[in-house]
Amino acid sequence: MTRRRQALILAAVAAAGIGLGGLGWLARDGSVQLAGASGRRSLLDLLEEARQPSGPRPQATEPPPPPPHPNWTSPLRGSCRPLDSPRRQQLLALASRLRTAPERIAIDPSNYGQRHSRDAYGNPLDPTPRLVVLHETVFSMESAINTFRTPHPRDEDQVSYHAVIGLDGRVVKLVDPSRRAYGAGNSAFRGEWAVTNPAVRGSVNNFALHVSLETPADGEHTGPVHSGYSAAQYDGLAALLAVWMERFPIPADQITTHRAVDLWGDRADPRSFDWDALLVRLESLGVFC
Ligand SMILES: [Zn+2]
Repeated sequence: MTRRRQALILAAVAAAGIGLGGLGWLARDGSVQLAGASGRRSLLDLLEEARQPSGPRPQATEPPPPPPHPNWTSPLRGSCRPLDSPRRQQLLALASRLRTAPERIAIDPSNYGQRHSRDAYGNPLDPTPRLVVLHETVFSMESAINTFRTPHPRDEDQVSYHAVIGLDGRVVKLVDPSRRAYGAGNSAFRGEWAVTNPAVRGSVNNFALHVSLETPADGEHTGPVHSGYSAAQYDGLAALLAVWMERFPIPADQITTHRAVDLWGDRADPRSFDWDALLVRLESLGVFC
């Protein structure tokens, strides 16, 4: 790829970005989409092409594997028991509302990013969400949302979840599942992580969905337990999980905790989580059928 060709591509991209009427439009994520006979290509695709050397591609380096880490044994071993009950009807209605009219709050773009289709060494990554990581907020949901709405220029301060669930059962969507929320730091699940920045070690964020439960008032400390989550929170969580599991290839045994994926060894959330309370609701929703 010559500098001249690269300049031509960039000029074409710029022209398309300005010519909103016939040639293209600016997508929501900032990439320019070009409509043509051969399909649509994003600005990132074109820049990627412009960056390719004209000779053979250099050999990609393998990313470092995650360190040995305890495997995950799922407590969610459910059966197909979608009994027609008021509880099932209530959960189905909740899931339907989450699909059609979810509550959304926009957070600061510094606190989330794009899912990567290549790692830091050029190897292909599958960015499809296929893991759910459960968290708790420790402090109120409101304070968590305020943190996510605050710009954080430093990488180490950037944090977000895809959704939070209040003690009253309110489910608030914060980051679209197609984007990467910064819910976990150095982390791995069943021997898999994605290294997207060689300066930091791997993380599950590239293929995870993160959801956090508001911690009850008696849990605003670093102790190991608190009084637990409300029935309304388990209802909201089960409904949200059912929606995600319908949309993405997420089996129940890939619903895990921050504690289980964390490699720093200092995360214990969600504390006092009742797996049976979640299991009975997921069975009602028919996710094991
Ligand atoms: Zn967490």
